[in-house]
Amino acid sequence: GRLSAILGRLRDVEDTFHHLQTPKKRVPNLIGGCFVNSQSSDFIDVINPATQQVVSQIPLTKNEEFKAAVSAAKQAFPSWRNTPVTTRQRVMLKLQQLIRRDMDKLAMNITTEQGKTLKDAQGDVFRGLEVVEHACGMASLQMGEFSSNVSHGIDTYSIREPLGVCAGICPFNFPAMIPLWMFPVAVTSGNTFVLKPSEKDPGCASMILAELAMEAGLPSGVLNVVHGTNDIVNAICDDEDIKAISFVGSNTAGMHIYKRASAKGKRVQSNMGAKNHGIVMPDASLDATLNALVAAGFGAAGQRCMALSTVVFVRDSKEWEIELVKRTKSLKVNAGTEPDADLGPVISKQAKERVCRLIQSGVESGARLLLDGRDIVVPGYEQGNFVGPTILSGVTEDMECYKEEIFGPVLLCMQADSLEEAINIVNRNKYGNGAAIFTSSGVAARKFQADIEAGQVGINVPIPVPLPFFSFTGSKASFAGDLNFYGKAGVNFYTQIKTVTQQWKDLGGGSGVSLAMPTSH
Ligand code: NAD
Repeated sequence: GRLSAILGRLRDVEDTFHHLQTPKKRVPNLIGGCFVNSQSSDFIDVINPATQQVVSQIPLTKNEEFKAAVSAAKQAFPSWRNTPVTTRQRVMLKLQQLIRRDMDKLAMNITTEQGKTLKDAQGDVFRGLEVVEHACGMASLQMGEFSSNVSHGIDTYSIREPLGVCAGICPFNFPAMIPLWMFPVAVTSGNTFVLKPSEKDPGCASMILAELAMEAGLPSGVLNVVHGTNDIVNAICDDEDIKAISFVGSNTAGMHIYKRASAKGKRVQSNMGAKNHGIVMPDASLDATLNALVAAGFGAAGQRCMALSTVVFVRDSKEWEIELVKRTKSLKVNAGTEPDADLGPVISKQAKERVCRLIQSGVESGARLLLDGRDIVVPGYEQGNFVGPTILSGVTEDMECYKEEIFGPVLLCMQADSLEEAINIVNRNKYGNGAAIFTSSGVAARKFQADIEAGQVGINVPIPVPLPFFSFTGSKASFAGDLNFYGKAGVNFYTQIKTVTQQWKDLGGGSGVSLAMPTSH
């Protein structure tokens, strides 16, 4: 009796121990149509930035597993490229419906892993969904050109053909939108794809969107997902079978990938960091402008590549700073799942440290701290990586906080005596993602539009991210490559032009052999 009691106890202890040791939820790879757990023994925790709870773990995928994904994509290519474009479009038509059906689930996953508010997470999904909708028109987008009778009996036409296996490497800040900038355009134009989500928030892209794409009828191997960090990115750059790479993220990673992959002869489109300025003219509508600055400066806790992180007040508009601070103070910082949250946490403890360090360096180099969010504590989420909205005034171009991308809820305020001077400040900045002007003068707006060196220009619009029938056209250090994401350029990126010259004429009584260069005389 005593022995069995002791054995029973031991079993209890073992159960408890086993429970503590229970492996965390592991995010599988998608290879050749199957969701498979990696055989790797190296994993990274995916952490909820509001609570520090481990949501799941992603594998540092082994090289042979990566090769299997590329090989699955390569094998799927011949039949997928020969599938009628109308059939490929229909998969997207179904996918957009499924994304709508699962919108709440997608948004909840984004908030859990990335931290942004649920409403903002819905926007993340929606902006990606619009690219899926756009890809439903691929038959028109991928159309070639035809010129009849360019010479006697000769017509010339061009065909846009898919490249083969393409790959996408994603950042953490838009876990739905950015994968959806990539694979829908790539696969609907006939390519197959290998997606590497951000290791910080892989759940939305890899699990849910890939599951939905399979449910929508995408054949096995057309979309593959592999997890990991630098090693797998380097493997993507080096792989002979991958023809093109879409990258979105920081300049360090983006330029590395651009150089390494183009040295291997690949096409690369690389969207990178930013410092987006808003110029405020004294004739702007005060109310609308201040609301736009607050929303674009602090939405998503400043973790948007198109966040307005720097305001240049021209002449008297500088006095609006006081009101800007007042409106910013009313923002509520909380976990993204809380209904009253305006902004959630930043992505990691390291990100919070970097943001706080850059704020401090601004103060030390002479900027005035009008609002300091560094010491914020959010009740119930004391462990979260929260930074409250922060405003630095009197910022100058030599300051580190100005030169570096902060990527947090920090708004820098500068001053200029004229529109000309304000434009020069923006143009001297190395980044060229976006810039906006707030004014009621058409003359000022038109000068700004003509003289500003930024790829995406807002006129009384703070975050001018183009819809998918245009392209995302960042410039200067914010982009490397020459074909932008989505829109016509996106289709061009994932396709190669073949130009055909055909002759159909009665060849009776030919005029003999001529070795001169053929002309249409
Ligand atoms: P990140 O560069 O750290 O990571 C992006 C991807 O690159 C990840 O998948 C990561 O695993 C990989 N990576 C990172 N370092 C690498 C290295 N040394 N070698 C190989 N691979 C590496 O970027 P992030 O922090 O996830 O995202 C934030 C950045 O993305 C910001 O700079 C932001 O401006 C930028 N961004 C730009 C756009 C745009 O369209 N221009 C959009 C969103 C985000």
